Amino acid sequence: MRPLEKSWNYSSCFCEKELMSMAKYVVVGGGIAGVTCVETLSSLCSEEEILLITASPVIKAITNYKKITKTLEDFDVEERPSASLLTKCENVKVLQKSVKSLNAKAHVVTLDDGEEISYQKLCLCTGGKPKLIANKNPYVLGIRDTESVQEFQKRLSAAKRIMVVGNGGIATELVYEIEGCEVIWAIKDKSISSTFVDPGAGEFFMGELNKKKETQEGKPSKRLKYSVEEVGNISSDRPCTGGALGPDWSTDLSMTGREEVSHHVVVEKCVEVKTIYTREDFVGSGKSSLDLSSNEDQDPWPVYVELTNDKVYGCDFVVSATGVVPNSAPVLHGNQFTVARDCGILVNDRMRTSEEDVYAAGDVCTAGWEPAHHWLQMRLWSQARQMGAYAAQCMVADTKGQNISLDFCFEVFSHVTKFFNYKVILLGKFNAQGLGNDYEILLRVTKGLEFVKVVLSGGRMEGAILIGETDLEETFENLILNQTDLTPFKDHLLDPDIDIEDFFD
Ligand code: FAD
Repeated sequence: MRPLEKSWNYSSCFCEKELMSMAKYVVVGGGIAGVTCVETLSSLCSEEEILLITASPVIKAITNYKKITKTLEDFDVEERPSASLLTKCENVKVLQKSVKSLNAKAHVVTLDDGEEISYQKLCLCTGGKPKLIANKNPYVLGIRDTESVQEFQKRLSAAKRIMVVGNGGIATELVYEIEGCEVIWAIKDKSISSTFVDPGAGEFFMGELNKKKETQEGKPSKRLKYSVEEVGNISSDRPCTGGALGPDWSTDLSMTGREEVSHHVVVEKCVEVKTIYTREDFVGSGKSSLDLSSNEDQDPWPVYVELTNDKVYGCDFVVSATGVVPNSAPVLHGNQFTVARDCGILVNDRMRTSEEDVYAAGDVCTAGWEPAHHWLQMRLWSQARQMGAYAAQCMVADTKGQNISLDFCFEVFSHVTKFFNYKVILLGKFNAQGLGNDYEILLRVTKGLEFVKVVLSGGRMEGAILIGETDLEETFENLILNQTDLTPFKDHLLDPDIDIEDFFD
C-alpha cells in the first residue's frame, strides 16, 4: 500500500497551497451513495481521515431507516447542509468543490480551483445526469435535483399544457401529481409505468390517471422533506451538480398549472418524439396541431412536438424524463476505467473499478459481477445506499487485507415505492426478467385496492409485484429466497381467504 507522505491535517492545507492535501479515504459525491459510504467508513475506522468532496452545498442524509424484510428497506431522505455530517462523523471533512479530473496512477484528484488531493482509496459516487431528448433546447427540461424541480414548478405555474416524455418512475409521479394543466404523456411502450411494472399493473394504474385526487389534508405527510432555498433563473442546460432526488420527492411540492382542470392526462402509447418545433418553425411548416382543450383563443404555443405517430401537440414546455446516464465523464479522461455499455463505470463484486484503489457506487457505476439469480441493478436510492455502504466495507477490508463476501442485499432485488398513491413493492424477477417463455403468472386483482402478481418458474417463485397494502412481502421474499416448490399450493397461493404467512411458517 502506498504510504502517506505526510500526516493528514486538512485545515492546515488550505493555507499551505504548495503542499498537496491528502486523506486516506476520499469519497466524491454527496448523494445517498457518497454519504452512506462516508458514514460507513467513519464508523468502521474512527481513527482515519475521511474526506467527502461534493459539488453540491447540501448532502443527502438518510433518516428513519427501517428494514421491512430481509432485503427490503425503507427510509427518509433529507437534504442537509454538509456541515451536519461533521457532528455525526468527527473524522470526516467535507469540501464543497467539484472534481475536475483524476490521475488514478498517481492517486490524485484535481478540483475545479486547481487544488490537488491525494488519496489511498477513492470512491466515486458522482451519480447520474438526466438523459434529455434534446440538449440545449430551452423548452425541454430534465428533472434530477432540487434546482431542476424548482425550475419545473416555476414554469408549470404559468402553463396550460405540457408534454411528459418517458415511462419510468419520474414520469409516473409527475403525471399523477400535476394539476391545473393538461398533460400529454408520451411513452414508447404499450403500457404506462413499464420501467417498473408490467402491462397488467399498468392497466391497474390507468384507472387512476384522470381520477380526482383525494385531498392530502389529514393524511400523514410523506417522507422526503426539502429545505430548499430560492434560486435564481436556471438555464435548462446548466451543469447538473446537485444530488438526485430521492423517495417522495414530489410530495408537498406544488405542481399546479394555471388552468382550472384538476387532472387531465392524455396518454400517447408506442410513440417517440420525432421533431420539436419552435413556434416560428411550426407556423411556417404548414402542419396542424391537435387542440384538446377547445381553447380557441389560445395563442400559438411556445413549442410544438411531433410524435412518431404523426400527431403534433403544442405545449408550454416538455419534460424529458427519459432516464439517466452515469456521471462518469470528469474522471474518465487519462485513466483506464472499464466503462459499461450504459456508460457506468464497471465495478466488480468488491465495488472496485479497473483502476487500482478506485471504487465506485450508486448511479455512476454498473455492477460488473455475475449477479445472483434474483438480483438486478436498477438506479434507485435503495441500491445507491446499499452500494455506498458495501463499497466502504470493501475499502476498509482491502486496506486491512481482509476477505469480504458480497453483501446479502445483492441476493434478491427488492424495492418499495409509491405510484398513484399506492404502495408498490417489487421483488426478484418481478417482470420475469431473463426467464424467456419459461414462466407462468399468478394474478389477484381487486380494482382500486390491490394488484398481486407472482412469477413462477418450474413451480418456484421468481418474483412478485405487490401493489396496495397486501402484507405479502415478507412471505414472498422468503419463498423467492428459499425456492420452495410451490407446485402443490399454486392454486391457493393467492387465495385471499388463506393466510399464507401461517401456511409457510
Ligand atoms: P446522486 O444522488 O446523483 O449524487 C451525486 C452527487 O455527486 C451529488 O452530490 C453531486 O453534487 C456530486 N457530484 C457530481 N459530480 C461531481 C464532481 N465532479 N465533483 C464533486 N461532486 C460531484 N429512486 C428511487 O429509488 N425511488 C424513487 O422514487 C426515485 N425517484 C426519483 C425521482 C427523481 C426526480 C430522480 C431524479 C431520481 C429518483 N430516483 C428514485 C433515483 C435516485 O434518486 C438515485 O438512484 C439515487 O439518488 C442516486 O444516488 P447517488 O448517490 O448515486 O447519486
